[in-house]
Amino acid sequence: MHVTAIIAAGGAGRRLGGAVPKQLLEIGGRSILQHSVDAFLGHDRVTEVIVVLPGALAAAPPAWMSSTAAGARMHVVAGGDRRQDSVANAFDRVAAQCDVVLVHDAARPFVTPDLISRSIDAAAQHGAAIVAVAVADTVKRVDGAGLVAETIPRESIVLAQTPQAFRRAVLGAAVALGRAGVAATDEAMLAEQAGHPVHVIPGEAGNVKITTAADLDAARRGVRLAGRIGTGYDLHRLVVGRPLILGGVRLPSPFGALGHSDADVVCHAATDAILGAAALGDIGRHFPDTDPAWKDASSLDLLRRAAALVAGAGFAVVNLDVVVVLERPKIAPFIERIRSAVAEALGVAVECVSVKGKTNEGVDAVGRGEAIAAHAVAMLRGA
Ligand code: MG
Repeated sequence: MHVTAIIAAGGAGRRLGGAVPKQLLEIGGRSILQHSVDAFLGHDRVTEVIVVLPGALAAAPPAWMSSTAAGARMHVVAGGDRRQDSVANAFDRVAAQCDVVLVHDAARPFVTPDLISRSIDAAAQHGAAIVAVAVADTVKRVDGAGLVAETIPRESIVLAQTPQAFRRAVLGAAVALGRAGVAATDEAMLAEQAGHPVHVIPGEAGNVKITTAADLDAARRGVRLAGRIGTGYDLHRLVVGRPLILGGVRLPSPFGALGHSDADVVCHAATDAILGAAALGDIGRHFPDTDPAWKDASSLDLLRRAAALVAGAGFAVVNLDVVVVLERPKIAPFIERIRSAVAEALGVAVECVSVKGKTNEGVDAVGRGEAIAAHAVAMLRGA
């Protein structure tokens, strides 16, 4: 089956304000438009994607559109004055052998593969289908004076989302009706008027339309809640006469780690992991060893400060996992104290912090006891 997806992004998106068109605003590192386009390009049943952009943007599309591996599977066309004009322009580019056309609002970036699949199936079976959700609130019709004229049984109401899906000939009839002068806010309305029953299939609550600044904030918060991962690494030379401090805990040892600060590899790797997960740089940027303020600083205190920076950027630590690579002494007897100290500095429960010890099997400088290293992985979520 040949399936074409039309992504309608022809509007200026003025309701969100600002100089940047709505479809180019970013959520979690990708524009709203790219989220929507990727959802269809990445779907194994979608053959081609036609993106409708405002004229100026169509003439100079964002770089990712030309650099995408999708290549010939994606076409860009210029939109018209109204949504129906934009979809009509796109319809002219739909391949002749196409069976089903999906029309999707670019402003719904969280459309799922399942919703796309169900839309394709419903259009193939029924000719025209829309996804829609039930109404939870009581629905009132209001008169011109702002008074309630009627309470409408909400069982009779659904809220239409996109995709809207059509067999090619059905959408062709709808587009022809629009070109003949019938105005409509969506293609399903034109298909209806062209005499094709429109089938309703269940939509998804998460398939939201980004319309207001509050919608955008909520979407960004939702993406951040999905979690971010960071990694950290540290190594210090071991020398006789220095204290050996791990996670703020001093281990009895004739030698310790050499460094400007207390050379605590657990705290240094953990600090880089949480800063990295928040894309806030690294320990050297925030606490440079050229700054006398950090000479002899407690690295546990630096980790605490880094946790505050991460919290300030809107993230909370979910968990931290650290591997210490050291020939001797064995760290096992001290692991619980290290976990507690690190958890306290991060402001999380001790169950959220893991510390493991490894030797390097006598290999390399670490194996010869000349150095100590640590690796850390941290997960954050939006707070
Ligand atoms: Mg270090």
